[in-house]
Amino acid sequence: MNRRNILKGIAAGTIGLPLALRLLAGKGHAQSRGEATVSGERFDWKMVTTWPPGFPILGEGCQKLADLCHAMSGGRLHITVYGGGELVPPLEAFDAVRQGAAEVGSGAAYYWAGKLPAAQFFAGFPFGLNAQQMNAWLLSGGGMELWRELYATVGLLPFAGGNTGVQMGGWFNRRIDSVADFRGLKMRMPGLGGRVLERLGGTPVLLPGGEIYTGLERGILDATEWVGPYHDYIMGFHEIAKYYYYPGWHEPGTNFEFFVNREKYDALPPDLQQIFATATHYINMYTLSAFEAKNADYLAKLKQVAGLFILPFPEPLITQARQAAAEVMEEYAASDATTQRVYASIQQFRALAKPWSELTERRFYEDLEGSAPADL
Ligand code: CA
Repeated sequence: MNRRNILKGIAAGTIGLPLALRLLAGKGHAQSRGEATVSGERFDWKMVTTWPPGFPILGEGCQKLADLCHAMSGGRLHITVYGGGELVPPLEAFDAVRQGAAEVGSGAAYYWAGKLPAAQFFAGFPFGLNAQQMNAWLLSGGGMELWRELYATVGLLPFAGGNTGVQMGGWFNRRIDSVADFRGLKMRMPGLGGRVLERLGGTPVLLPGGEIYTGLERGILDATEWVGPYHDYIMGFHEIAKYYYYPGWHEPGTNFEFFVNREKYDALPPDLQQIFATATHYINMYTLSAFEAKNADYLAKLKQVAGLFILPFPEPLITQARQAAAEVMEEYAASDATTQRVYASIQQFRALAKPWSELTERRFYEDLEGSAPADL
């Protein structure tokens, strides 16, 4: 690549500054040719996670990442994974990595929205991006650069760590036939989804995962969202709620993350940095694939549950929720200049991506794939 093209790339935002500087200095391929000597030094890292130990797919993905790094580095990058609470409480993982008590953490960026409002967008938001769009925005649409910039302010380096795909709308103890049925509805619905629920007349209730089942059983909750058929089945919600609604408008594609202490990452030799980064790409794909496959499997199981109704939200409710979400998001984006800039980037990306998916993804689902048999 010549100098002129590199400069054009910087101007167009297609080449990040660090890469541009390396290319301009003529060192663009030095690392990939393996010219750096391989150090025999061993690095022992700790990974703290926001997931219960061994949590299906997400906790398993963390261990897979550790195993991959170990195997690819010949044991030179060894990561010990700690479930939430084993080393630090789940929601202290972010600060633990910032402070260097652990080198890497696993979570979802919206957990840190109280500290960094813009972080919300790197996990997802109501009526936001689906998994394919999120990956496209992050990995090829400028999102990752913004994410790195945001986390650099707290000494961290982020990596995409998988996606749930479109979640389910949740479990309800009564039928939802209209927007009016959301009035007074006590629903476990965290974050921005909860704010949208409020505008529809509902009451968001915050309950930790371990208390939802009892809350629903005892009527402290009328409804709860969780994830999708696989994780919901494990929670046993089908035993106590009769109505399972779709789609999860509040979480159409929640993205997960690995965040690394920047100084600890910089201390790794280049080949171990590359091994870690490449392993996260594998986990990013593994996680989404596992959610898709397991959810399909467990949806079939849930369809066998006697007396359970699996229903779509009424169209007027979705329309009203979409309008309420747009207002909530505009207000939220005004939190600070960075949040505004990240939201603008997503909106710009969507404006381009939507016409393309109209011609392709939508046509695939509506025309090419055909309908599922009625009994499924
Ligand atoms: Ca959820």
